[in-house]
Amino acid sequence: MAGGWTRRQVLAQATIAAAVYTLDPHELCCGVNAYAQTAGADSFELKKVGDGVWAAVAAARYKVNSNAAVIETNDGLVVVDTHSKPSAAQALYQDIQGVSKKPVKKIINSHFHWDHWQGNQVYAQANPGCEIIASERTKARLTDPNQMNGGVAFIEKQAAAMPAEIEQIKAAIQKAPDAAAKARLEGNLAQAEAYLAELKAMKPAVPTRTVSSTVALQEGGREIRLMLVGKAHTDGDLFIYLPKEKVLATGDAVVDWMPFLNDGYPEDWVKTLDALERFDFRHVIPGHGGVVPKEQLSFFRGYLSDLIAGVKGAAKDGASLDEMKKTLPDRLAARYEQRMSKHPVGQYRERVGTNIEMVYRKVVQKA
Ligand SMILES: [Zn+2]
Ligand SMILES: [Zn+2]
Repeated sequence: MAGGWTRRQVLAQATIAAAVYTLDPHELCCGVNAYAQTAGADSFELKKVGDGVWAAVAAARYKVNSNAAVIETNDGLVVVDTHSKPSAAQALYQDIQGVSKKPVKKIINSHFHWDHWQGNQVYAQANPGCEIIASERTKARLTDPNQMNGGVAFIEKQAAAMPAEIEQIKAAIQKAPDAAAKARLEGNLAQAEAYLAELKAMKPAVPTRTVSSTVALQEGGREIRLMLVGKAHTDGDLFIYLPKEKVLATGDAVVDWMPFLNDGYPEDWVKTLDALERFDFRHVIPGHGGVVPKEQLSFFRGYLSDLIAGVKGAAKDGASLDEMKKTLPDRLAARYEQRMSKHPVGQYRERVGTNIEMVYRKVVQKA
């Protein structure tokens, strides 16, 4: 362009490029393939994991919802994580009112990713004075104008990217190999269109209180520990621990599908899971997938450490990233493929290549 671009134009282009970049589901935290079989509505299964403690297990959606933890105290409710959109938070809020009509006193966001906090506004609007708590790092990322994968500014970036994503799904529908694939794509198209409408109307509610180290809340007769144990899925992961009820909510630092490593710290992550394992708990409410026993931690950590060892070993032997992506998935499959592919989304083969690439960049190249 003659005369060069103004700084504003360059920034606008960079924003668009960055936004389109996130369209690749492998690059987006908890992104889902457009061909995946997903549920027809944002719904949750409330599973009791202790006296007055529930896991809200999210149905698989094209624009995924995180799980939530719901904790009842003597005088109110505490809810951990609020999904990807207000309508999903509203759906869960209705279910919650079926088990307790107490006011929601506190919302806790486990980390900054879009699918864990974009429903905050529902609880904030319905419960004046409701505190929204996150780690200091999470709040910094939520309010950073350049932050990808989550945050207030990322809402607009997603809205800018959605029309292209919607066109891609429409094009895929035209080329669908069979009626079943077409039906799945059409279901996901409807979800993408509805999501865009919600993004445009969103009134984001950010944390009103932050923590920079572990604190024990004495909340209406119940101890709720907000723990900062180390870097893992992000640099601000908050773990919510109920010592009496022996329940741990982990956000995406532990999931019941394949991990997303793009904002993660693979080697620290292993150490953080080690540190967590020393606490006494029975049930884990992971960021995605079903409620799992404590043993999931060692399985999940095993995947991360085997992945890191595999990538490091291959790099030492002179393998290129492409070669690693060809050989490592099969080598790790016997131990991990089946259990990492329990759900229709976030399965082993869908994610393992990106996981290898992320470990290669972060651990070998230290980029
Ligand atoms: Zn997530
Ligand atoms: Zn996440």
